[in-house]
Amino acid sequence: MLRVQRVLLLVLDGLRPDLVTPETMPFLFSLEQQGMRLRHYSAAYPPHTRVQVATMCTGTYPGQHGIISNVMVLEDLGEDGLLDTSDYRQLKALDDLTQGQALLQLPLADLLAAHGKRLAVAATGSTGSTWIWVRTQPYRVVNPRSTFGIADLVSLREKLGEVPEPNADSLELARYALAAARDLFLPDPEIAVTVVWLNEPDATYHFTGLGSPESLTIQRALDALLERFFSDLVNRGLLDDLLVFVLSDHGHSTPHRHHSLRELLREAPTTPALKHLVPAADFLFRRPGEPFPKPTDLHSLIDWLLEQPWVGAVLAHPELAPDLPGTLDMGLVWGNRLEPAALHRLPALAVSPSWDSKPNANGIPGSVAALTDQVALRSTHGAGSPFDLRAYALLLGPGIQSGVSSAIPAGVVDIVPTIAATLGLDTPPSVAGRVLSEAFDPGRQPALQRKVVRPRPDRYLRGTQVENTFYLDELSSAQADEDE
Ligand SMILES: [Zn+2]
Repeated sequence: MLRVQRVLLLVLDGLRPDLVTPETMPFLFSLEQQGMRLRHYSAAYPPHTRVQVATMCTGTYPGQHGIISNVMVLEDLGEDGLLDTSDYRQLKALDDLTQGQALLQLPLADLLAAHGKRLAVAATGSTGSTWIWVRTQPYRVVNPRSTFGIADLVSLREKLGEVPEPNADSLELARYALAAARDLFLPDPEIAVTVVWLNEPDATYHFTGLGSPESLTIQRALDALLERFFSDLVNRGLLDDLLVFVLSDHGHSTPHRHHSLRELLREAPTTPALKHLVPAADFLFRRPGEPFPKPTDLHSLIDWLLEQPWVGAVLAHPELAPDLPGTLDMGLVWGNRLEPAALHRLPALAVSPSWDSKPNANGIPGSVAALTDQVALRSTHGAGSPFDLRAYALLLGPGIQSGVSSAIPAGVVDIVPTIAATLGLDTPPSVAGRVLSEAFDPGRQPALQRKVVRPRPDRYLRGTQVENTFYLDELSSAQADEDE
């Protein structure tokens, strides 16, 4: 097994792997010749950003770490129970209320700290997403959006000169974060893992659409920043012993309709169970203070949902699913890796909207019946569609195969075990991901097992088991039967 002393995780939020081409990102495309591209690299369901952050920094699935959606409804939080995970103050409030249990699994920063090593983050994404990385070790963090109420982080920023405004041009923010990694974190021998998390091209995809002129411009501009960044690292000798992951956290799809679940449920048959449920994005959470719904109270709602053209698959809480015909047990999307402490955070039901491969106006495939009323959204992510689940991954560094691409399924959940193995650290038994040893070992062919689960003939879940790790490939589309 390869051993390195330092690791860089460079995340381009939302980057669609098929949109990395010689035209859109010539530098990144050429970098693939120096490393191993993972062609079958998947987000954890649901493909929301903070869900991926928590999965990436713990090596566990959402049914274990408990950050199961960007917006959650939790009993712990009182009356409406709403938790917006993009705001670190709300996550911190949850941490305070639960004696430090906002995240239910040990994050990488703590694993490193136990061995006297440090993790640093330079980010331009939401404060919540940054905070999840460094919750208990918040000493080496740069995000122009916040100093997280920590005086030391103000002086840390001063070393980098003027801080861009949080609403500055996203390339200016990206340049700042890359400079922090290059000048502050990568040269620091105490820092074993540096995370750079850029909120592009995700933001531009959302507001202008996949393949739009603006999206192409931002991808090219990010690519130019990366070229400059890597050239600086080479010139300073910082790349020599560094293991580098260039990643995205999820993909994207073009919405062909914009209706929220709340709005759509107005047409549903009246059932007393609906009064006990709160819709948020694709999920129906139990309303705080209300009892957990009885399966018999949900039957008419499930039947109705499964008749709707916008519904791909209906997932049910593991305690409800056995008594709800037609639904998929939510635990299946994570290979049944569940922790009892996380069960009460799971929604009663999740609706993965229907999707297809139709191209948008710019010729980019992947369309979804997005469950959102934000009509300004030109692109979205969160469904069990392969266009949302599949993300970008490239590994580079000493001992990594170069100029090859791997079709072996891999995912966000594998980052921690792979980093731990290369730094020589043990991981907790709860880790659900695997060590991506195919990147170091050309002969490696792990056993794969394809899995299909059909709760009824026109609905399915497809995934792949690689050793002890399960990867979700897709939840059924409206065209399930045509696909077969
Ligand atoms: Zn994201």
